[in-house]
Amino acid sequence: MTELAAKQVALGEVRGAPAADPVDVPMIRHWLAAMGDANPVYLEEGLAPPAMAQVWTMQGLRAEAKGSSPVDAMMTALNARGYTGVVATNCEQTYHRYVRVGERLTAATRFADLAGPKRTALGVGYFATWNITWYSEDDEPVAEMLFRVLKFRPPDRTSDHEPGRPPDREPDRTPGREPYPLQPAINQDTAFFWEGTRRGELRIQSCADCGELRHPPGPLCPRCRSTNRTHTLATGTGTLYSYVVHHHPPVPGRAVPFVVGVVELPEGVRIVGNVVDCPIEEVTIGMPLRVTYRPMDDRLVLPMWTPREQ
Ligand code: ZN
Repeated sequence: MTELAAKQVALGEVRGAPAADPVDVPMIRHWLAAMGDANPVYLEEGLAPPAMAQVWTMQGLRAEAKGSSPVDAMMTALNARGYTGVVATNCEQTYHRYVRVGERLTAATRFADLAGPKRTALGVGYFATWNITWYSEDDEPVAEMLFRVLKFRPPDRTSDHEPGRPPDREPDRTPGREPYPLQPAINQDTAFFWEGTRRGELRIQSCADCGELRHPPGPLCPRCRSTNRTHTLATGTGTLYSYVVHHHPPVPGRAVPFVVGVVELPEGVRIVGNVVDCPIEEVTIGMPLRVTYRPMDDRLVLPMWTPREQ
């Protein structure tokens, strides 16, 4: 990896193709609406919001390959070695001037650094850093971005000696069952919750000092700042506060469409989970639900929600 990184750094700044379209008003209008930015200056003066820099040179979903950047080879190599996880850890943008409607930008990419392998809470991985500079048609740099991602190797969930995970006293293993591909982040703050679901309990974290309930679990009480914590057992009933029906993109280990709900518990917190055993067209906000525990593999039990008679 070190050798490839040095090679990619040595390539220096690699220019991409000019943007497929010039900076235009419709995209600016959509962006302002999506961001809730009511500043009239952009549309009145024909200026692009600076944070749109990346918008103008972004390839579409079905874009034809127009040559590769020095980052592509690095990502391919990391993926091939099992570092398939991605977390963007840093993005810094610098704006040199406003870009005007009608200008056509070109992005240039420079691979800056590869650091690792490093052990992180997500798994062992590499931090890859690169810079993108956007140029005007007369080669003036108008914006720059430093981007750093952690490419990590997702931990092997079949291991009995997973770091940070307490030993399981009730293995309850079904031999030969494939691990569910979407594993939750299990750490010191969340382990109690997943131990609970394996035992058919819906555990809600509570402050050991002031009693405030909180979900999702975290290290600090939002009310009194105490780090002393315990948990309480929820009754397992709730009502559907909000939901989405997921159609696309495909999700490993799941058949689409499926319903992702936010369930309001009578205890006073909300929890995210799938709504199951209910035709999608019958899912409605406010419907009464009851928790159901679904084993996804030998270790993971997901709490899901099923309709409940009132
Ligand atoms: Zn508290």
